Amino acid sequence: MENVIIIGTGCAGWTSAIYTARANLNPLVIAGEEIGGQLATTTEVENFPGFPEGIMGPDLMMNMHKQAEKFGTRVEYDFVTSVQRRDDGIIDVKTAAGKEYETKTVIIATGASARWLHLDREKELVGHGLTSCATCDGAFYRDVPVVVVGGGDSACEEASFLTRFASKVYLVHRRDELRASKIMADRALANDKIEPVWNSELKEYLTDDAGEMRAVKILNRETGEESELEVKCVFVAIGHDPNTKFLEGSGVKLDEDGYVIQDGHSTDSNIPGIFSAGDVSDHVYRQAITAAGNGCQAALDAERFITALED
Ligand code: NAP
Repeated sequence: MENVIIIGTGCAGWTSAIYTARANLNPLVIAGEEIGGQLATTTEVENFPGFPEGIMGPDLMMNMHKQAEKFGTRVEYDFVTSVQRRDDGIIDVKTAAGKEYETKTVIIATGASARWLHLDREKELVGHGLTSCATCDGAFYRDVPVVVVGGGDSACEEASFLTRFASKVYLVHRRDELRASKIMADRALANDKIEPVWNSELKEYLTDDAGEMRAVKILNRETGEESELEVKCVFVAIGHDPNTKFLEGSGVKLDEDGYVIQDGHSTDSNIPGIFSAGDVSDHVYRQAITAAGNGCQAALDAERFITALED
Protein backbone atom coordinates (compact mmCIF):
# COMPACT_ATOMS: atom_id res chain seq x y z
CA MET A 1 0.00 0.00 0.00
CA GLU A 2 1.34 3.41 -0.97
CA ASN A 3 1.03 6.42 1.33
CA VAL A 4 0.76 8.93 -1.46
CA ILE A 5 0.63 8.74 -5.24
CA ILE A 6 1.35 12.03 -7.00
CA ILE A 7 0.06 12.27 -10.53
CA GLY A 8 2.02 14.71 -12.68
CA THR A 9 5.52 16.16 -12.91
CA GLY A 10 5.04 19.91 -13.24
CA CYS A 11 5.92 22.39 -10.49
CA ALA A 12 2.97 21.25 -8.35
CA GLY A 13 3.78 17.53 -8.65
CA TRP A 14 7.51 17.84 -7.90
CA THR A 15 6.90 20.19 -4.97
CA SER A 16 4.36 17.75 -3.49
CA ALA A 17 6.96 15.03 -3.96
CA ILE A 18 9.74 17.00 -2.22
CA TYR A 19 7.52 17.73 0.78
CA THR A 20 6.00 14.25 1.13
CA ALA A 21 9.41 12.62 0.64
CA ARG A 22 10.93 14.80 3.36
CA ALA A 23 8.00 13.79 5.60
CA ASN A 24 9.12 10.14 5.14
CA LEU A 25 6.00 9.20 3.21
CA ASN A 26 8.02 7.56 0.40
CA PRO A 27 5.88 9.07 -2.38
CA LEU A 28 5.36 7.52 -5.78
CA VAL A 29 5.14 9.94 -8.72
CA ILE A 30 3.43 8.77 -11.89
CA ALA A 31 4.94 11.02 -14.51
CA GLY A 32 2.25 11.35 -17.18
CA GLU A 33 2.62 12.30 -20.82
CA GLU A 34 4.16 15.77 -20.63
CA ILE A 35 7.07 15.19 -18.28
CA GLY A 36 8.04 18.41 -16.53
CA GLY A 37 4.74 20.04 -17.43
CA GLN A 38 4.41 23.35 -19.24
CA LEU A 39 7.80 24.68 -18.08
CA ALA A 40 9.58 21.80 -19.80
CA THR A 41 8.66 23.40 -23.11
CA THR A 42 9.52 27.01 -22.29
CA THR A 43 12.86 28.76 -22.52
CA GLU A 44 14.02 31.24 -19.89
CA VAL A 45 12.08 31.65 -16.64
CA GLU A 46 12.82 35.00 -15.00
CA ASN A 47 10.09 35.17 -12.37
CA PHE A 48 10.74 32.06 -10.25
CA PRO A 49 12.23 33.40 -6.99
CA GLY A 50 15.77 32.35 -6.22
CA PHE A 51 17.20 32.66 -9.72
CA PRO A 52 18.28 36.30 -10.16
CA GLU A 53 19.88 35.49 -13.51
CA GLY A 54 16.83 33.48 -14.66
CA ILE A 55 16.81 29.76 -15.36
CA MET A 56 15.79 27.69 -18.37
CA GLY A 57 12.39 26.03 -17.85
CA PRO A 58 13.66 22.48 -18.51
CA ASP A 59 16.59 23.04 -16.09
CA LEU A 60 14.23 24.24 -13.36
CA MET A 61 12.09 21.13 -13.80
CA MET A 62 15.15 18.86 -13.85
CA ASN A 63 16.34 20.47 -10.59
CA MET A 64 12.95 19.86 -8.96
CA HIS A 65 12.99 16.26 -10.20
CA LYS A 66 16.48 15.68 -8.76
CA GLN A 67 15.52 17.34 -5.47
CA ALA A 68 12.46 15.07 -5.19
CA GLU A 69 14.52 11.93 -5.92
CA LYS A 70 17.24 12.99 -3.46
CA PHE A 71 14.73 12.50 -0.63
CA GLY A 72 13.54 9.12 -1.88
CA THR A 73 10.72 9.90 -4.33
CA ARG A 74 10.12 7.01 -6.73
CA VAL A 75 9.06 7.82 -10.30
CA GLU A 76 7.12 5.61 -12.72
CA TYR A 77 7.02 6.71 -16.36
CA ASP A 78 3.43 5.72 -16.89
CA PHE A 79 0.05 7.38 -17.39
CA VAL A 80 -2.84 7.17 -14.93
CA THR A 81 -6.10 6.01 -16.50
CA SER A 82 -8.34 5.86 -13.43
CA VAL A 83 -8.60 6.79 -9.76
CA GLN A 84 -11.29 5.22 -7.60
CA ARG A 85 -11.86 5.37 -3.85
CA ARG A 86 -13.30 2.15 -2.44
CA ASP A 87 -15.81 1.88 0.42
CA ASP A 88 -12.99 0.84 2.77
CA GLY A 89 -11.24 4.18 2.06
CA ILE A 90 -8.40 2.71 0.02
CA ILE A 91 -7.85 4.42 -3.32
CA ASP A 92 -7.19 2.30 -6.43
CA VAL A 93 -5.03 3.85 -9.14
CA LYS A 94 -4.76 2.16 -12.55
CA THR A 95 -2.31 3.02 -15.31
CA ALA A 96 -1.97 2.72 -19.07
CA ALA A 97 0.79 0.11 -18.59
CA GLY A 98 -1.73 -2.11 -16.79
CA LYS A 99 -0.40 -1.50 -13.27
CA GLU A 100 -2.74 -1.25 -10.30
CA TYR A 101 -1.79 0.49 -7.08
CA GLU A 102 -3.49 0.84 -3.70
CA THR A 103 -2.84 4.07 -1.84
CA LYS A 104 -4.01 6.05 1.17
CA THR A 105 -3.89 9.38 -0.66
CA VAL A 106 -3.59 10.80 -4.17
CA ILE A 107 -2.39 14.25 -5.20
CA ILE A 108 -3.68 15.21 -8.64
CA ALA A 109 -1.14 17.55 -10.21
CA THR A 110 -1.77 16.93 -13.88
CA GLY A 111 -1.90 20.60 -14.86
CA ALA A 112 -3.65 22.19 -17.75
CA SER A 113 -2.52 22.28 -21.34
CA ALA A 114 -2.60 25.51 -23.29
CA ARG A 115 -4.68 25.28 -26.43
CA TRP A 116 -2.72 25.82 -29.63
CA LEU A 117 -3.68 26.67 -33.18
CA HIS A 118 -2.31 23.47 -34.76
CA LEU A 119 -0.42 25.31 -37.47
CA ASP A 120 2.71 23.93 -39.14
CA ARG A 121 5.93 23.87 -37.04
CA GLU A 122 4.00 25.05 -33.96
CA LYS A 123 5.79 22.76 -31.48
CA GLU A 124 9.27 23.65 -32.70
CA LEU A 125 8.57 27.41 -32.58
CA VAL A 126 7.60 27.47 -28.90
CA GLY A 127 10.34 29.54 -27.25
CA HIS A 128 11.37 31.08 -30.60
CA GLY A 129 8.72 33.75 -30.84
CA LEU A 130 5.74 31.60 -29.97
CA THR A 131 4.35 31.23 -26.47
CA SER A 132 1.14 30.84 -24.51
CA CYS A 133 2.22 32.93 -21.52
CA ALA A 134 2.59 36.72 -21.58
CA THR A 135 3.54 36.89 -17.90
CA CYS A 136 6.41 34.48 -18.58
CA ASP A 137 7.69 35.84 -21.87
CA GLY A 138 6.37 39.39 -22.38
CA ALA A 139 9.49 41.06 -21.00
CA PHE A 140 11.63 39.44 -23.71
CA TYR A 141 9.82 41.44 -26.41
CA ARG A 142 10.58 45.09 -25.73
CA ASP A 143 9.93 47.76 -28.35
CA VAL A 144 8.88 45.29 -31.02
CA PRO A 145 5.43 44.46 -32.43
CA VAL A 146 3.70 41.31 -31.16
CA VAL A 147 0.39 39.58 -31.75
CA VAL A 148 -2.08 38.07 -29.29
CA VAL A 149 -4.57 35.52 -30.61
CA GLY A 150 -7.96 35.12 -28.91
CA GLY A 151 -10.96 37.12 -27.77
CA GLY A 152 -11.47 36.06 -24.15
CA ASP A 153 -10.32 37.49 -20.81
CA SER A 154 -6.90 35.88 -21.20
CA ALA A 155 -6.32 37.47 -24.59
CA CYS A 156 -7.41 40.91 -23.35
CA GLU A 157 -5.41 40.63 -20.14
CA GLU A 158 -2.30 39.48 -22.01
CA ALA A 159 -2.66 42.17 -24.67
CA SER A 160 -2.98 44.90 -22.01
CA PHE A 161 -0.01 43.49 -20.06
CA LEU A 162 2.13 43.32 -23.20
CA THR A 163 1.68 47.03 -23.92
CA ARG A 164 4.20 47.61 -21.09
CA PHE A 165 6.89 46.13 -23.31
CA ALA A 166 5.90 45.85 -26.95
CA SER A 167 5.80 48.76 -29.39
CA LYS A 168 2.44 47.51 -30.70
CA VAL A 169 0.08 44.66 -29.87
CA TYR A 170 -2.20 43.24 -32.56
CA LEU A 171 -5.19 41.43 -31.06
CA VAL A 172 -6.31 38.92 -33.67
CA HIS A 173 -9.77 37.47 -33.09
CA ARG A 174 -11.79 35.17 -35.29
CA ARG A 175 -15.05 37.11 -34.76
CA ASP A 176 -16.00 40.79 -34.72
CA GLU A 177 -16.68 40.99 -30.99
CA LEU A 178 -14.75 39.90 -27.93
CA ARG A 179 -15.95 37.18 -25.60
CA ALA A 180 -14.09 38.82 -22.70
CA SER A 181 -15.85 40.50 -19.76
CA LYS A 182 -16.80 44.10 -20.55
CA ILE A 183 -14.25 45.64 -18.22
CA MET A 184 -11.34 43.67 -19.69
CA ALA A 185 -12.51 44.20 -23.27
CA ASP A 186 -13.01 47.95 -22.75
CA ARG A 187 -9.60 48.29 -21.14
CA ALA A 188 -7.90 46.51 -24.04
CA LEU A 189 -9.78 48.35 -26.76
CA ALA A 190 -9.14 51.75 -25.14
CA ASN A 191 -5.39 51.17 -25.19
CA ASP A 192 -3.70 53.05 -28.05
CA LYS A 193 -1.02 50.40 -28.40
CA ILE A 194 -3.56 47.62 -29.03
CA GLU A 195 -4.91 47.23 -32.55
CA PRO A 196 -7.74 44.72 -32.94
CA VAL A 197 -7.73 42.63 -36.11
CA TRP A 198 -11.30 41.37 -36.41
CA ASN A 199 -12.73 38.33 -38.21
CA SER A 200 -9.26 37.01 -38.73
CA GLU A 201 -7.28 33.87 -38.15
CA LEU A 202 -3.61 32.96 -38.31
CA LYS A 203 -2.74 30.72 -41.22
CA GLU A 204 1.04 30.45 -40.96
CA TYR A 205 4.03 31.33 -38.80
CA LEU A 206 6.84 32.96 -40.83
CA THR A 207 10.40 32.82 -39.51
CA ASP A 208 13.70 34.55 -40.25
CA ASP A 209 16.99 32.83 -41.16
CA ALA A 210 17.70 32.11 -37.49
CA GLY A 211 14.35 30.33 -37.11
CA GLU A 212 12.84 33.10 -34.95
CA MET A 213 9.35 34.51 -35.54
CA ARG A 214 9.36 37.25 -38.18
CA ALA A 215 5.69 37.59 -39.17
CA VAL A 216 2.37 35.79 -39.37
CA LYS A 217 0.10 35.19 -42.32
CA ILE A 218 -3.48 36.25 -41.55
CA LEU A 219 -6.71 35.34 -43.30
CA ASN A 220 -9.66 37.71 -43.12
CA ARG A 221 -12.59 35.31 -42.83
CA GLU A 222 -15.07 37.80 -44.27
CA THR A 223 -13.18 38.99 -47.33
CA GLY A 224 -10.98 35.93 -47.87
CA GLU A 225 -8.00 38.30 -48.12
CA GLU A 226 -4.61 37.15 -46.89
CA SER A 227 -2.02 39.51 -45.43
CA GLU A 228 1.17 39.47 -43.39
CA LEU A 229 1.74 41.07 -40.00
CA GLU A 230 5.36 41.71 -39.05
CA VAL A 231 5.68 40.57 -35.41
CA LYS A 232 8.47 39.21 -33.24
CA CYS A 233 6.27 37.07 -31.04
CA VAL A 234 2.89 35.36 -31.13
CA PHE A 235 1.03 34.95 -27.82
CA VAL A 236 -1.65 32.30 -28.22
CA ALA A 237 -4.37 32.97 -25.62
CA ILE A 238 -7.26 30.79 -26.70
CA GLY A 239 -7.77 29.02 -23.39
CA HIS A 240 -6.46 26.01 -21.48
CA ASP A 241 -7.77 22.49 -21.01
CA PRO A 242 -7.25 20.94 -17.55
CA ASN A 243 -5.92 17.39 -17.77
CA THR A 244 -8.72 15.64 -15.93
CA LYS A 245 -10.14 13.15 -18.45
CA PHE A 246 -8.82 10.22 -16.40
CA LEU A 247 -11.04 11.33 -13.49
CA GLU A 248 -14.24 10.40 -15.33
CA GLY A 249 -16.20 8.04 -13.10
CA SER A 250 -14.00 8.81 -10.06
CA GLY A 251 -16.62 10.98 -8.37
CA VAL A 252 -14.08 13.84 -8.06
CA LYS A 253 -16.02 17.06 -8.55
CA LEU A 254 -14.94 19.20 -11.48
CA ASP A 255 -16.18 22.68 -12.37
CA GLU A 256 -17.95 23.37 -15.66
CA ASP A 257 -14.60 23.78 -17.44
CA GLY A 258 -13.22 20.51 -16.09
CA TYR A 259 -10.95 21.90 -13.31
CA VAL A 260 -10.80 19.94 -10.02
CA ILE A 261 -12.71 21.89 -7.37
CA GLN A 262 -10.73 22.44 -4.17
CA ASP A 263 -12.55 22.73 -0.89
CA GLY A 264 -12.17 26.33 0.30
CA HIS A 265 -8.71 27.01 1.72
CA SER A 266 -7.42 23.44 1.56
CA THR A 267 -6.42 21.32 -1.41
CA ASP A 268 -9.06 18.69 -0.54
CA SER A 269 -11.28 17.49 -3.35
CA ASN A 270 -14.77 16.28 -2.44
CA ILE A 271 -13.37 12.74 -2.03
CA PRO A 272 -11.49 12.02 1.23
CA GLY A 273 -7.81 11.30 0.56
CA ILE A 274 -7.81 12.85 -2.91
CA PHE A 275 -6.11 16.24 -3.15
CA SER A 276 -5.24 18.47 -6.07
CA ALA A 277 -2.55 21.04 -6.74
CA GLY A 278 -1.55 23.54 -9.37
CA ASP A 279 -3.07 24.41 -12.73
CA VAL A 280 -5.42 21.42 -12.69
CA SER A 281 -7.40 23.43 -10.11
CA ASP A 282 -6.37 26.96 -11.04
CA HIS A 283 -7.58 28.86 -14.07
CA VAL A 284 -6.77 32.23 -12.57
CA TYR A 285 -3.08 32.48 -11.55
CA ARG A 286 -1.43 29.65 -13.52
CA GLN A 287 2.12 30.51 -12.49
CA ALA A 288 5.01 28.17 -11.74
CA ILE A 289 5.37 29.61 -8.27
CA THR A 290 1.65 29.40 -7.44
CA ALA A 291 1.58 25.79 -8.66
CA ALA A 292 4.64 24.99 -6.54
CA GLY A 293 3.06 26.66 -3.50
CA ASN A 294 -0.15 24.73 -4.00
CA GLY A 295 1.90 21.51 -4.37
CA CYS A 296 3.38 22.20 -0.94
CA GLN A 297 -0.12 22.74 0.51
CA ALA A 298 -1.38 19.47 -0.99
CA ALA A 299 1.59 17.59 0.49
CA LEU A 300 0.86 19.02 3.96
CA ASP A 301 -2.85 18.20 3.59
CA ALA A 302 -2.06 14.62 2.52
CA GLU A 303 0.42 14.23 5.40
CA ARG A 304 -2.21 15.39 7.93
CA PHE A 305 -4.80 13.10 6.40
CA ILE A 306 -2.46 10.09 6.77
CA THR A 307 -1.60 11.05 10.36
CA ALA A 308 -5.32 11.23 11.17
CA LEU A 309 -5.84 7.77 9.63
CA GLU A 310 -3.05 6.35 11.80
CA ASP A 311 -4.52 7.96 14.93
P1 NAP B 1 -12.03 31.58 -23.18
O1 NAP B 1 -12.90 32.48 -22.40
O2 NAP B 1 -12.49 30.20 -23.50
O3 NAP B 1 -11.72 32.34 -24.56
C1 NAP B 1 -11.01 31.72 -25.57
C2 NAP B 1 -10.96 32.67 -26.76
O4 NAP B 1 -10.14 32.08 -27.76
C3 NAP B 1 -12.33 32.93 -27.37
O5 NAP B 1 -12.42 34.28 -27.77
C4 NAP B 1 -12.34 32.01 -28.59
O6 NAP B 1 -13.04 32.52 -29.69
C5 NAP B 1 -10.89 31.96 -28.97
N1 NAP B 1 -10.54 30.68 -29.60
C6 NAP B 1 -10.76 29.43 -29.12
N2 NAP B 1 -10.27 28.50 -29.96
C7 NAP B 1 -9.73 29.19 -31.00
C8 NAP B 1 -9.05 28.81 -32.18
N3 NAP B 1 -8.82 27.53 -32.47
N4 NAP B 1 -8.63 29.78 -33.02
C9 NAP B 1 -8.84 31.11 -32.73
N5 NAP B 1 -9.46 31.53 -31.62
C10 NAP B 1 -9.89 30.58 -30.75
O7 NAP B 1 -10.58 31.39 -22.51
P2 NAP B 1 -9.75 32.40 -21.59
O8 NAP B 1 -9.76 33.75 -22.13
O9 NAP B 1 -8.45 31.72 -21.34
O10 NAP B 1 -10.59 32.41 -20.23
C11 NAP B 1 -10.83 31.17 -19.54
C12 NAP B 1 -11.52 31.48 -18.20
O11 NAP B 1 -10.60 32.14 -17.33
C13 NAP B 1 -12.70 32.40 -18.36
O12 NAP B 1 -13.69 32.03 -17.42
C14 NAP B 1 -12.15 33.75 -18.00
O13 NAP B 1 -13.13 34.65 -17.53
C15 NAP B 1 -11.13 33.39 -16.93
N6 NAP B 1 -10.06 34.39 -16.89
C16 NAP B 1 -10.20 35.39 -15.99
C17 NAP B 1 -9.22 36.37 -15.91
C18 NAP B 1 -9.36 37.46 -14.90
O14 NAP B 1 -10.44 37.61 -14.36
N7 NAP B 1 -8.32 38.21 -14.62
C19 NAP B 1 -8.12 36.35 -16.77
C20 NAP B 1 -8.03 35.32 -17.69
C21 NAP B 1 -9.02 34.34 -17.74
P3 NAP B 1 -14.65 32.67 -29.67
O15 NAP B 1 -14.91 33.85 -28.82
O16 NAP B 1 -14.97 32.87 -31.10
O17 NAP B 1 -15.16 31.38 -29.12
